Amino acid sequence: MTASTTAGHSDLVTADPSAARKADAVIESLSLPATGIPVHDPATGEFLANVPDIDAGAALEAVRIADTASRSWANTTPRQRADVLHNWWKLLVENTEQLAHLITREMGKPLSEARGEVKYGTDFVRWYAEEAVRPGGGFREAPDGGSNILVRRAPVGLAVLITPWNFPLAMATRKIAPALAAGCGAVIKPATLTPLTTYYAVELARQAGVPEDLIQVVTTSKSGAFSEAVLRDDRVRKVSFTGSTGVGQQLLKIAGEGVLRTSMELGGNAPLIVFDDADLERAVNGAFAAKLRNGGQSCIAANRIYVQQGIADAFVEALTEKLSAAPVGNGFGHGTVVGPLIDNRAVAQMLALTEDAVAKGAQLRTGGTAYDSAGHFFAPTLLDHVSTSADVANAEIFGPIAAIQRFGTESEVVARANQTEFGLAGYVFTESLDRAFNVADRLETGLVGINQGVPSNAAAPFGGVKQSGIGREGSSEGLDEYQNIRFYNIARRDTH
Ligand code: NAD
Repeated sequence: MTASTTAGHSDLVTADPSAARKADAVIESLSLPATGIPVHDPATGEFLANVPDIDAGAALEAVRIADTASRSWANTTPRQRADVLHNWWKLLVENTEQLAHLITREMGKPLSEARGEVKYGTDFVRWYAEEAVRPGGGFREAPDGGSNILVRRAPVGLAVLITPWNFPLAMATRKIAPALAAGCGAVIKPATLTPLTTYYAVELARQAGVPEDLIQVVTTSKSGAFSEAVLRDDRVRKVSFTGSTGVGQQLLKIAGEGVLRTSMELGGNAPLIVFDDADLERAVNGAFAAKLRNGGQSCIAANRIYVQQGIADAFVEALTEKLSAAPVGNGFGHGTVVGPLIDNRAVAQMLALTEDAVAKGAQLRTGGTAYDSAGHFFAPTLLDHVSTSADVANAEIFGPIAAIQRFGTESEVVARANQTEFGLAGYVFTESLDRAFNVADRLETGLVGINQGVPSNAAAPFGGVKQSGIGREGSSEGLDEYQNIRFYNIARRDTH
């Protein structure tokens, strides 16, 4: 079996048209221009709307407006900020269906998953409404007893937030909510492929009481000129970026010149390790979720699946069956599990990765198929006995290809798992508590899913090590990213 493009449009699940119309009503409610950057539905190729295509001058104007608003916001009380964030959370939750339909329309993921993203994304707003009143701090004594140290937190200042297309709501709220909780304003630049959800979420923030100017949404087709201009402006004190490692490296260079605070959530290449003693059903379900969530377009998607020799045949059999049964189609279709990829380039990349792996000895057990459609679909694919030299064993796949390698011993698989410059997520499936911790401790990653494939939530300090990033999002650590730590040294004199 080799990769092919033979599957027809009729093999795809079709949309419920009334659901697509629900999304279009939300788009119509946004004040968008007649010309600008066009946004398309990746499942159909349909044009949805234009968003503004701003130049560097307009970006600097957005910086000016947000900076002024940010200075007032920094003087609000923690409780005021918490109340506004709480109102925003309630409004987002009330608009779950509108947000979910919009996410599916512009990004493609199945509606049930889009609802899951709304839950995940709104949880950050709720979490930071709660964290806002716990800004942290401390009280210390100087070692010589001559003074006391009061440790305080202050907002870092205006933050530039740059988000990718794969989680249009959650990547935005995971940055905006802690920035606001800490007392910062923000200029947010969503990906031009999926900007509509950000526009809508920020509109709801304003309705919830966030000052009109405090969050500026900017969209541009010239992202390089944008970052060159805004990151060099001395009103900007922080940049938080989620996206590819290559772009992150460029932004770090510019941020280095101005010594900006930086948070970088970059690319991944997650190992998922299944030991012989794993619960087979749990491992298969976990691998399926870690691979197919968002059609594999997730930075923590299982990229290299390592299966121990004793369980490998049974695991491959069960995962192949599950992947080949997963319906592919429009995210508004009933029962769709795998939506479209974001664009045609991604489909071409899946075909190339599959062909390369097969040419290097992999067995194609299911999938490998693109569809004859205006949308960008690729079938869930399983490649077994993948060679370590195959591209699929080294690159970030970002699509629905499960690439299986087999291994013998624990130390061998840990060494192979760590042979990458990336270090975002890892997964371990075993029934041995000792092995789970021993392997998790030795994986060079920022997070590890143990016997589960969906490890992120608002309470988890999400982020990578090595070239997967700097800083953490979510949890109390996510608030630290928007705060400067200061201390007051209070002299003590003995008055006895
Ligand atoms: P990307 O790096 O191409 O783009 C991300 C964002 O950066 C977009 O808004 C894009 O317009 C913008 N951008 C691109 N060049 C820029 C520049 N020179 N200056 C300023 N902005 C610029 O990434 P993508 O294709 O949108 O997303 C996929 C990548 O994101 C994958 O590598 C994935 O692993 C990573 N990602 C990481 C996380 C994480 O939390 N670590 C989460 C989601 C995605």
